[in-house]
Amino acid sequence: MTEPTREQILDRIRAAGVVGAGGGGFPAHVKLDARVEVVLANGAECEPLVRVDQQEMADRPAELLRGLLLAMAATGARRGIVGLKAKYKTAVERLGETIRQRRLADRVSLHLLENFYPAGDEFVLVREALGRAIPEFGLPLDVGAVVSNVSTLLDVAAAVDEARPVTHRLVTVTGAVREPSSFRVPLGTPLGALVAAAGGPTEPRTRLIAGGPMMGTLVPDDGQPVVKTTSAVLVLPEQHPVVQRRLRDAKRQLQLTRTACLKCMMCTEICPRNLLGHRLYPDRLMRNLAAGVTEDLEAFVGSFLCSECGLCAVYGCVMNLDPAYVNRTLKAKLAAAGVPRPAPPTKPERVFQPLRRVPLPRLVARLGLTPYDRPAPLRPFERRVPCLVVPLKQHAGLPARAVVRTGQRVAPGDLLGELPEGKLGARVHAGTAGRVVEVTDAAVTIEVE
Ligand code: SF4
Ligand code: SF4
Repeated sequence: MTEPTREQILDRIRAAGVVGAGGGGFPAHVKLDARVEVVLANGAECEPLVRVDQQEMADRPAELLRGLLLAMAATGARRGIVGLKAKYKTAVERLGETIRQRRLADRVSLHLLENFYPAGDEFVLVREALGRAIPEFGLPLDVGAVVSNVSTLLDVAAAVDEARPVTHRLVTVTGAVREPSSFRVPLGTPLGALVAAAGGPTEPRTRLIAGGPMMGTLVPDDGQPVVKTTSAVLVLPEQHPVVQRRLRDAKRQLQLTRTACLKCMMCTEICPRNLLGHRLYPDRLMRNLAAGVTEDLEAFVGSFLCSECGLCAVYGCVMNLDPAYVNRTLKAKLAAAGVPRPAPPTKPERVFQPLRRVPLPRLVARLGLTPYDRPAPLRPFERRVPCLVVPLKQHAGLPARAVVRTGQRVAPGDLLGELPEGKLGARVHAGTAGRVVEVTDAAVTIEVE
């Protein structure tokens, strides 16, 4: 087989609509259009209860390494590293075996991580695997690296070698369900169908979180569709603290901050980005908010440095306050007011403090999720879903532009939405055969045949 050129690799990735599957949804053809020394495959999967990446690495090691080699070819990288936890034993063995069999050891290696949160934060992963500190407001590119989620690299391999677009996604369904499972489903499948396939809820009143308990989003109803960045559906009783934290309104958050913040700095002490030497001080933000201080610009602009990992709220704060929420709100307000994100300055002065790592089992216990920390093996998805609602924006950038009409028949892999010319975005494809029954600026609805 003739190896594709760099341009062909990027073009096929763009055509297939590959985006960062780890959560960011950044278009892969843009991210990989760079020149770096090393590509880091992110298989850390640090969100509690989510099992997708560890299963993909164990089941599809050769495809993953192929995707990594293609990403290295696109970026000119001489080295590829798969960062994964040592506890993913099957994945470690199978990847190691494949590296040996294919004689890749001079170019590709594994970096084994301890079981802590947030090992999958790319700033933390780069520090762990390469010993390099990404400057504040910077990117992995600033230290000669590209970081790509392992599921994204599987999509890269399928796009380049088989011209196969991104139409499906592996999703862990866990929490208060009878049979925690992982299902590979077409994009647009309603989350409720996955919950039903996992045996249904075990509690009478539950809510769904799309993603993990730390960074996932509470969804308004179970009709919300699976998108390219959906790694998990977490089902929890409505009164569970993980749900309740997401239901607090802004006014209540502010009231609590004003009255309850002890100014103890525990939130800053635990903050992984602060530990990397970045000037992110959640305690100062909380103090400012409580006292009505508006002049502390360093603290306010520092909110741009927040990864929204949630550790300050869940693990740091003894008063059950939510500095992560405050950071997120402030970031959105600064962006809406047109305040630019500062450029990367000098290197950080301090280094990561390994002793302050938060072990995952302790985090799971703190979250009240220990009873739900169960395996979620891959099972076939056998439910019939009458309609798929496929969003035209499942990625960073602009929504795709619908290219199908109501009444039109589509086959699996057909293009539904085109990338806007010259803009940041990604194409969207059909995951199933069917008839288009509705087209809006937001989504294409397909009646499944
Ligand atoms: S959510 Fe909290 S702990 Fe995480 S990066 Fe932001 S301020 Fe730091
Ligand atoms: S940990 Fe909580 S109480 Fe302490 S400074 Fe931070 S927000 Fe305030």
